[in-house]
Amino acid sequence: MSNINVPELFGSYLFNDAVMKDRLPMDVYMSLKNTIDYGEPLDTSIADTVAKAMKEWAISLGATHYTHWFQPLNNGTAEKHDSFVNGTKDGEVLMEFSGKELLRAESDASSFPSGGLRNTSCARGYTAWDCTSPAFVKDTPDGTKVLCIPAVFTSYTGESLDNKTPLLRSMIAIDKQTKRVLKFFGKEPRKIISNNGAEQEYFLVDKKKYEKREDLELAGRTLFGAAAPKGQELDDNYYAGIKDKVLIFMSDLNDELWKYGILAKTQHNEVAPGQCELAVIYNDTNITNDNNQLVMETIMKVAARHGLACLLHEKPFKGINGSGKHNNWSLSTSDGENLLNPTKDPENNLQFQVFIAAILAAVDNNAELLRASAASVGNEHRLGAQEAPPAIISIYLGERLESMVDQIIKKGKAKSFTKTRVYDSGVATLPTFTVDATDRNRTSPFAFTGNKFEFRMVGSSQPCAKPATVLNTIVADELCKVADKFEKAKDFEKAAKQYVRKTFKEHRRILFDGDGYSDEWVEEAARRGLPNIKHMVDCVQYINNEKSVELFKRMNVLSKVELDARAIIDYEGYAKAINIEALVMVDMVNKELLPAILKYEGTLAKEAADISANGIDPKVQKGIIQDIELKVDELKKATDALSKKLEKAPQYMDDVKKWAYYYKEVVFDAFDSVRLPADQLEDMVAKNAWPIPTYEELLFEIGDER
Ligand code: ADP
Ligand code: MG
Repeated sequence: MSNINVPELFGSYLFNDAVMKDRLPMDVYMSLKNTIDYGEPLDTSIADTVAKAMKEWAISLGATHYTHWFQPLNNGTAEKHDSFVNGTKDGEVLMEFSGKELLRAESDASSFPSGGLRNTSCARGYTAWDCTSPAFVKDTPDGTKVLCIPAVFTSYTGESLDNKTPLLRSMIAIDKQTKRVLKFFGKEPRKIISNNGAEQEYFLVDKKKYEKREDLELAGRTLFGAAAPKGQELDDNYYAGIKDKVLIFMSDLNDELWKYGILAKTQHNEVAPGQCELAVIYNDTNITNDNNQLVMETIMKVAARHGLACLLHEKPFKGINGSGKHNNWSLSTSDGENLLNPTKDPENNLQFQVFIAAILAAVDNNAELLRASAASVGNEHRLGAQEAPPAIISIYLGERLESMVDQIIKKGKAKSFTKTRVYDSGVATLPTFTVDATDRNRTSPFAFTGNKFEFRMVGSSQPCAKPATVLNTIVADELCKVADKFEKAKDFEKAAKQYVRKTFKEHRRILFDGDGYSDEWVEEAARRGLPNIKHMVDCVQYINNEKSVELFKRMNVLSKVELDARAIIDYEGYAKAINIEALVMVDMVNKELLPAILKYEGTLAKEAADISANGIDPKVQKGIIQDIELKVDELKKATDALSKKLEKAPQYMDDVKKWAYYYKEVVFDAFDSVRLPADQLEDMVAKNAWPIPTYEELLFEIGDER
């Protein structure tokens, strides 16, 4: 609750720089700091000292346990708690935590998705400390506390089994290649940082109603539900005044996040009823990824405390906007320079032009891979659905930079931009201000927004690590080619100008400033030869095709074996998720919807008989019963057909790709034939006879009793 002292609360559960400075001997602190800030190799001889300090700090906050906190390939997080407790011969208890325990822990890797890298008979895996993301203490309302140590997860044979390792490797790649290019501009910063600011969208629904929906609980989205009479057509939820219940939840959420040192900044109602957004101030791509995992977990937990349930699914409701996660990406130096800052005169800023050109080339050359980094089972419902960017990758630069690109293509140079527009309302009491040089384009998947690119395709439940890894890697790879060129050139400036012009020319096709939601764009993109990969399952092949294998190998980010495993995990993940959805549908029809509808029919029939007994023809009842009977028949047949399709699925299991396509093309394709009659029946049956909360109740009644 917020009569809270924010500066005092902020970071109080984080083993941050101030705590380390305070609790570590100066030489240990300096050594660790060099590793954290500048990527110097970790000196493992300091581990015992750090572990002791970490343990004492955590115990001072009330922690009894510690865990390596890691991110397996199920896209969530994992933790196994060990207490600090150790016994002595005399029966006393010691609170211990060694450097060895800090550095690594062992775990069973076969129970996490491994894409065939581990099986039950060869199961060993390790987690290892990532000191570049600070440890933190997680707590519960009753004061139970656990020290969480961010860690990577690897197999016994050394392959990465997580989303963090490739991200860290991609950060090294972009650090190295950016430095090579910057040297030519006379700059030698100690470190290059790839930044990410994540905006998180989510839905809140009443927890009691949520618990009455098997589909929400098990599949994360509604598989049934007739549209409510009102949706989002009045545009009355975006930025709308926040309901007290939600605001109290948000306030509690902020307090929790601030404790972890997470810079929770912006909160507002989103477009759809019941939908909210939280934006956190940007940090390096590794910390943002960790923080965002913690944000997602904390939203869920805090919501539950307030009688709410948080839906992180990309498309919880049909016909209503889904949720995304905007990843704002940029590059900066340890000297504080943002390499994507256009400065006052981008038209004459060769360094800025080189970086923009490299990003254009990287995105255009690797559009499939970037698209794949935002592919997930849930996100496929959202992309291209008049609410989120289409599945086509394009870049929006804004009027000014696009004109700069076109001038350079045409003439080899661009004129400085002098036009500034001042807002003047004509009301003297109102402020005047200079209007931004570029407008916003909400429909672009990859939009330049002043000094960063906003990747808007990513789904709300996805980890930030995947898109960040791909962005870092593809841009690093292009910068590597640029550096190679510059290093060979006699006249660097000439080479740089040539590179910029040639690249702008070759990749002009990726720029688009129009309406990305329109059908015309789909046609235009096809004419330009831009890929339009509509579905997650179709994306998987781009994860481990030859081009990707070579790219990730060149940049030392992922090996072929690691990429193959990820492709397998994606195919399997899709099949399993659709299997669950299908089973939930069948379950809900047979155990909830049909019994309720039939009971209602029975009531009508009884009423009709009563009316007949009085000599009146029950015309209306008979008509309704007949209509219901027809739909019930349709629903039952479609449900049985879906069950049959599910029964056949295991025969494709040996080939994960075929298995996934069976689920996409046969099982998922049958969903509508079940949902449509069910939703029509919902509209035919009396409100109090319908067994599960409706869209109206879920979207508009937060916290009301049913
Ligand atoms: P918008 O609604 O315009 O998208 P928000 O304020 O909701 O803007 O979110 C912007 C996000 O971009 C925040 O997370 C912010 O910290 C982040 N951001 C700002 N500057 C940078 C930058 N240079 N690099 C990366 N992210 C940035
Ligand atoms: Mg945004």
